[in-house]
Amino acid sequence: MRRGDVTADVPPARCDVLVVGSGAGGLSAAVTAASLGLNVIVVEKEAVFGGTTAWSGGWLWIPRNPLAVAAGIVEDAEAPRTYLRHELGPHYDETRVEAFLEQGPRMIDFFQRETAVMFIDGNAIPDFHGASPGAREGGRSVCAAPFDARELGPRFAQLRPPLDLISPWGMGIASGTELRHFLNAMRNWRSFAYVTRRVVWHMLDLVVHRRGMKLVNGNAPSRGSPDRRSTAASTCAYRRQCANC
Ligand SMILES: Cc1cc2nc3c(=O)[nH]c(=O)nc-3n(C[C@H](O)[C@H](O)[C@H](O)COP(=O)(O)OP(=O)(O)OC[C@H]3O[C@@H](n4cnc5c(N)ncnc54)[C@H](O)[C@@H]3O)c2cc1C
Repeated sequence: MRRGDVTADVPPARCDVLVVGSGAGGLSAAVTAASLGLNVIVVEKEAVFGGTTAWSGGWLWIPRNPLAVAAGIVEDAEAPRTYLRHELGPHYDETRVEAFLEQGPRMIDFFQRETAVMFIDGNAIPDFHGASPGAREGGRSVCAAPFDARELGPRFAQLRPPLDLISPWGMGIASGTELRHFLNAMRNWRSFAYVTRRVVWHMLDLVVHRRGMKLVNGNAPSRGSPDRRSTAASTCAYRRQCANC
Protein backbone atom coordinates (compact mmCIF):
# COMPACT_ATOMS: atom_id res chain seq x y z
CA MET A 1 0.00 0.00 0.00
CA ARG A 2 1.28 3.47 -0.83
CA ARG A 3 1.18 6.44 1.52
CA GLY A 4 -2.19 8.14 1.16
CA ASP A 5 -4.02 4.99 0.05
CA VAL A 6 -7.18 4.29 2.02
CA THR A 7 -8.43 0.79 2.69
CA ALA A 8 -12.01 -0.03 3.55
CA ASP A 9 -11.40 -3.53 4.87
CA VAL A 10 -11.30 -2.56 8.54
CA PRO A 11 -14.78 -2.88 10.02
CA PRO A 12 -16.10 0.07 12.06
CA ALA A 13 -15.44 -0.34 15.78
CA ARG A 14 -16.37 1.47 18.99
CA CYS A 15 -14.14 2.11 21.97
CA ASP A 16 -13.79 4.25 25.08
CA VAL A 17 -10.21 5.22 24.30
CA LEU A 18 -8.59 5.45 20.89
CA VAL A 19 -4.80 5.39 21.05
CA VAL A 20 -2.88 6.58 18.00
CA GLY A 21 0.55 4.94 17.76
CA SER A 22 1.94 1.77 19.26
CA GLY A 23 5.25 2.87 20.79
CA ALA A 24 5.89 3.00 24.52
CA GLY A 25 3.77 6.13 24.94
CA GLY A 26 0.75 4.73 23.10
CA LEU A 27 0.88 1.23 24.53
CA SER A 28 1.41 2.51 28.08
CA ALA A 29 -1.68 4.66 27.71
CA ALA A 30 -3.60 1.72 26.23
CA VAL A 31 -2.60 -0.72 28.97
CA THR A 32 -3.40 1.81 31.70
CA ALA A 33 -6.82 2.57 30.23
CA ALA A 34 -7.56 -1.15 29.83
CA SER A 35 -6.57 -1.82 33.42
CA LEU A 36 -9.13 0.80 34.47
CA GLY A 37 -11.82 -1.17 32.69
CA LEU A 38 -11.98 0.89 29.51
CA ASN A 39 -12.32 -0.59 26.06
CA VAL A 40 -9.27 0.46 24.05
CA ILE A 41 -8.32 0.41 20.40
CA VAL A 42 -4.74 1.08 19.31
CA VAL A 43 -4.25 2.25 15.72
CA GLU A 44 -0.87 2.16 14.03
CA LYS A 45 0.06 3.57 10.63
CA GLU A 46 2.90 1.11 10.04
CA ALA A 47 2.49 -2.55 9.19
CA VAL A 48 4.39 -3.38 12.39
CA PHE A 49 3.85 -2.16 15.94
CA GLY A 50 6.42 -0.92 18.41
CA GLY A 51 7.50 2.37 16.82
CA THR A 52 10.92 3.80 17.61
CA THR A 53 10.56 2.15 21.00
CA ALA A 54 11.08 -1.29 19.46
CA TRP A 55 14.46 -0.10 18.16
CA SER A 56 15.55 1.58 21.35
CA GLY A 57 17.89 0.55 24.11
CA GLY A 58 14.86 0.22 26.35
CA TRP A 59 16.36 2.18 29.23
CA LEU A 60 14.12 4.44 31.30
CA TRP A 61 15.51 7.16 33.55
CA ILE A 62 13.21 6.96 36.54
CA PRO A 63 14.68 8.36 39.77
CA ARG A 64 13.44 6.72 42.99
CA ASN A 65 12.20 3.70 41.06
CA PRO A 66 11.04 0.64 43.03
CA LEU A 67 14.01 -1.52 41.94
CA ALA A 68 16.48 1.03 43.29
CA VAL A 69 14.51 1.39 46.51
CA ALA A 70 14.46 -2.41 46.91
CA ALA A 71 18.25 -2.35 46.59
CA GLY A 72 18.46 0.22 49.38
CA ILE A 73 19.03 3.24 47.13
CA VAL A 74 16.72 5.80 48.71
CA GLU A 75 16.78 9.52 47.94
CA ASP A 76 14.26 12.29 48.17
CA ALA A 77 12.99 14.09 45.08
CA GLU A 78 15.17 17.16 45.57
CA ALA A 79 18.36 15.70 44.04
CA PRO A 80 16.78 14.54 40.74
CA ARG A 81 14.81 17.80 40.64
CA THR A 82 18.07 19.75 40.94
CA TYR A 83 19.64 17.60 38.22
CA LEU A 84 16.72 18.17 35.86
CA ARG A 85 16.68 21.91 36.60
CA HIS A 86 20.36 22.08 35.67
CA GLU A 87 20.08 19.84 32.57
CA LEU A 88 16.90 21.37 31.18
CA GLY A 89 17.84 24.99 31.78
CA PRO A 90 15.22 27.27 30.16
CA HIS A 91 13.15 24.22 29.17
CA TYR A 92 12.51 23.28 32.80
CA ASP A 93 8.75 22.98 33.24
CA GLU A 94 7.88 22.60 36.89
CA THR A 95 4.46 21.00 36.39
CA ARG A 96 5.80 18.34 34.05
CA VAL A 97 8.88 17.67 36.15
CA GLU A 98 6.80 17.25 39.31
CA ALA A 99 4.42 14.89 37.49
CA PHE A 100 7.38 12.91 36.15
CA LEU A 101 9.09 12.62 39.53
CA GLU A 102 5.90 11.57 41.28
CA GLN A 103 4.38 9.28 38.66
CA GLY A 104 7.55 7.67 37.25
CA PRO A 105 8.10 5.28 40.18
CA ARG A 106 4.35 4.53 40.32
CA MET A 107 4.45 3.67 36.61
CA ILE A 108 7.22 1.09 37.12
CA ASP A 109 5.37 -0.36 40.07
CA PHE A 110 2.14 -0.53 38.04
CA PHE A 111 3.76 -2.37 35.12
CA GLN A 112 5.50 -4.89 37.34
CA ARG A 113 2.38 -5.55 39.41
CA GLU A 114 -0.33 -5.44 36.74
CA THR A 115 1.30 -6.50 33.48
CA ALA A 116 3.70 -9.04 32.04
CA VAL A 117 6.37 -6.36 31.55
CA MET A 118 9.27 -6.80 33.95
CA PHE A 119 12.32 -4.61 34.48
CA ILE A 120 15.96 -5.08 35.32
CA ASP A 121 17.67 -2.44 37.41
CA GLY A 122 20.29 0.00 36.23
CA ASN A 123 21.61 0.60 39.72
CA ALA A 124 25.20 0.62 38.51
CA ILE A 125 24.51 3.04 35.66
CA PRO A 126 25.48 6.64 36.43
CA ASP A 127 23.63 9.71 35.21
CA PHE A 128 24.94 10.95 31.85
CA HIS A 129 26.38 14.17 33.26
CA GLY A 130 27.97 12.98 36.45
CA ALA A 131 29.41 16.37 37.38
CA SER A 132 26.07 18.19 37.21
CA PRO A 133 24.39 19.24 40.46
CA GLY A 134 22.08 16.51 41.75
CA ALA A 135 23.68 13.77 39.62
CA ARG A 136 24.02 10.25 41.03
CA GLU A 137 26.40 7.41 40.27
CA GLY A 138 23.53 4.94 39.84
CA GLY A 139 20.08 3.89 40.92
CA ARG A 140 17.98 5.97 38.55
CA SER A 141 17.53 3.67 35.55
CA VAL A 142 15.59 0.54 34.68
CA CYS A 143 15.40 -1.48 31.48
CA ALA A 144 12.73 -3.83 30.15
CA ALA A 145 13.73 -7.39 31.02
CA PRO A 146 14.34 -9.83 28.12
CA PHE A 147 11.63 -12.34 27.37
CA ASP A 148 10.71 -15.18 25.04
CA ALA A 149 8.84 -13.98 21.94
CA ARG A 150 6.67 -17.11 21.97
CA GLU A 151 4.66 -15.41 24.73
CA LEU A 152 3.36 -12.95 22.14
CA GLY A 153 1.77 -15.70 20.05
CA PRO A 154 0.74 -14.71 16.52
CA ARG A 155 1.24 -10.99 17.35
CA PHE A 156 4.99 -11.57 17.28
CA ALA A 157 4.92 -11.48 13.47
CA GLN A 158 3.69 -7.87 13.70
CA LEU A 159 6.31 -6.67 16.17
CA ARG A 160 8.89 -4.34 14.60
CA PRO A 161 12.23 -6.23 14.48
CA PRO A 162 15.21 -4.74 16.33
CA LEU A 163 17.30 -2.14 14.49
CA ASP A 164 19.60 -3.98 12.06
CA LEU A 165 22.51 -1.57 12.64
CA ILE A 166 22.90 -2.73 16.23
CA SER A 167 21.56 -6.28 15.89
CA PRO A 168 23.94 -8.67 14.09
CA TRP A 169 21.88 -11.22 12.11
CA GLY A 170 18.81 -9.67 13.72
CA MET A 171 20.03 -10.62 17.20
CA GLY A 172 19.30 -7.94 19.77
CA ILE A 173 22.03 -7.75 22.41
CA ALA A 174 20.60 -7.01 25.83
CA SER A 175 22.05 -4.00 27.60
CA GLY A 176 23.87 -4.80 30.82
CA THR A 177 25.39 -8.21 31.52
CA GLU A 178 24.84 -9.59 28.02
CA LEU A 179 26.48 -6.62 26.35
CA ARG A 180 29.42 -6.96 28.76
CA HIS A 181 29.85 -10.60 27.68
CA PHE A 182 29.90 -9.56 24.01
CA LEU A 183 32.48 -6.86 24.68
CA ASN A 184 34.70 -9.30 26.62
CA ALA A 185 34.22 -12.37 24.42
CA MET A 186 37.83 -12.35 23.21
CA ARG A 187 39.27 -11.66 26.66
CA ASN A 188 37.34 -13.95 28.95
CA TRP A 189 36.42 -17.65 28.54
CA ARG A 190 33.10 -17.31 30.37
CA SER A 191 32.08 -14.46 28.08
CA PHE A 192 33.27 -16.41 25.05
CA ALA A 193 31.16 -19.40 26.10
CA TYR A 194 28.16 -17.17 26.74
CA VAL A 195 28.42 -15.48 23.35
CA THR A 196 28.89 -18.80 21.54
CA ARG A 197 25.79 -20.22 23.21
CA ARG A 198 23.79 -17.09 22.50
CA VAL A 199 24.76 -17.00 18.82
CA VAL A 200 24.06 -20.72 18.34
CA TRP A 201 20.59 -20.37 19.91
CA HIS A 202 19.92 -17.34 17.74
CA MET A 203 20.92 -19.25 14.60
CA LEU A 204 18.62 -22.10 15.60
CA ASP A 205 15.82 -19.55 16.07
CA LEU A 206 16.51 -18.23 12.57
CA VAL A 207 16.27 -21.73 11.13
CA VAL A 208 13.11 -22.65 13.02
CA HIS A 209 11.30 -19.30 13.37
CA ARG A 210 13.16 -17.12 10.82
CA ARG A 211 13.73 -14.59 13.59
CA GLY A 212 15.38 -14.35 17.01
CA MET A 213 13.01 -15.32 19.80
CA LYS A 214 14.81 -13.63 22.67
CA LEU A 215 13.40 -10.11 22.78
CA VAL A 216 15.59 -7.56 24.51
CA ASN A 217 15.89 -3.82 25.15
CA GLY A 218 13.18 -1.77 23.42
CA ASN A 219 11.72 -4.89 21.80
CA ALA A 220 10.90 -6.32 25.21
CA PRO A 221 8.14 -3.97 26.45
CA SER A 222 5.91 -5.40 23.70
CA ARG A 223 5.22 -8.15 26.20
CA GLY A 224 2.36 -6.03 27.49
CA SER A 225 1.19 -5.18 24.02
CA PRO A 226 -1.97 -5.01 21.92
CA ASP A 227 -3.17 -8.53 21.58
CA ARG A 228 -3.22 -8.97 25.32
CA ARG A 229 -6.68 -7.67 24.46
CA SER A 230 -7.47 -4.20 25.66
CA THR A 231 -10.77 -4.78 27.37
CA ALA A 232 -11.74 -4.84 30.99
CA ALA A 233 -12.62 -8.51 30.90
CA SER A 234 -9.17 -9.41 29.68
CA THR A 235 -7.17 -7.16 31.94
CA CYS A 236 -5.83 -10.20 33.74
CA ALA A 237 -4.32 -11.35 30.44
CA TYR A 238 -1.64 -8.79 31.11
CA ARG A 239 -0.58 -10.48 34.28
CA ARG A 240 2.33 -12.82 34.40
CA GLN A 241 0.77 -14.78 37.19
CA CYS A 242 -2.82 -14.13 38.00
CA ALA A 243 -4.42 -15.56 41.10
CA ASN A 244 -7.79 -15.55 39.38
CA CYS A 245 -6.81 -17.51 36.28
C1 LIG B 1 18.57 3.22 18.49
C2 LIG B 1 17.77 3.98 19.53
C3 LIG B 1 18.02 3.76 20.87
C4 LIG B 1 17.30 4.46 21.84
N1 LIG B 1 17.51 4.16 23.16
C5 LIG B 1 16.82 4.81 24.12
C6 LIG B 1 16.96 4.46 25.50
O1 LIG B 1 17.70 3.53 25.88
N2 LIG B 1 16.26 5.18 26.42
C7 LIG B 1 15.40 6.19 26.06
O2 LIG B 1 14.79 6.80 26.95
N3 LIG B 1 15.20 6.51 24.75
C8 LIG B 1 15.87 5.84 23.79
N4 LIG B 1 15.64 6.14 22.46
C9 LIG B 1 14.59 7.11 22.15
C10 LIG B 1 13.22 6.40 22.34
O3 LIG B 1 13.21 5.22 21.57
C11 LIG B 1 12.05 7.28 21.90
O4 LIG B 1 12.11 8.53 22.56
C12 LIG B 1 10.72 6.60 22.32
O5 LIG B 1 10.67 5.28 21.83
C13 LIG B 1 9.53 7.39 21.79
O6 LIG B 1 8.38 6.67 22.17
P1 LIG B 1 6.98 7.11 21.61
O7 LIG B 1 5.95 6.15 22.13
O8 LIG B 1 6.77 8.56 21.90
O9 LIG B 1 7.11 7.03 20.02
P2 LIG B 1 7.33 5.74 19.08
O10 LIG B 1 7.91 4.58 19.81
O11 LIG B 1 8.05 6.19 17.85
O12 LIG B 1 5.85 5.37 18.68
C14 LIG B 1 5.06 6.23 17.88
C15 LIG B 1 4.18 5.35 17.00
O13 LIG B 1 3.13 6.14 16.46
C16 LIG B 1 2.94 5.75 15.10
N5 LIG B 1 2.25 6.88 14.46
C17 LIG B 1 2.73 8.11 14.21
N6 LIG B 1 1.79 8.85 13.60
C18 LIG B 1 0.68 8.06 13.46
C19 LIG B 1 -0.59 8.26 12.89
N7 LIG B 1 -0.95 9.44 12.36
N8 LIG B 1 -1.47 7.23 12.91
C20 LIG B 1 -1.11 6.02 13.44
N9 LIG B 1 0.09 5.79 14.00
C21 LIG B 1 0.98 6.79 14.00
C22 LIG B 1 4.35 5.49 14.60
O14 LIG B 1 4.33 4.69 13.45
C23 LIG B 1 4.93 4.75 15.82
O15 LIG B 1 4.70 3.36 15.75
C24 LIG B 1 16.34 5.44 21.47
C25 LIG B 1 16.08 5.65 20.11
C26 LIG B 1 16.78 4.93 19.15
C27 LIG B 1 16.46 5.15 17.69
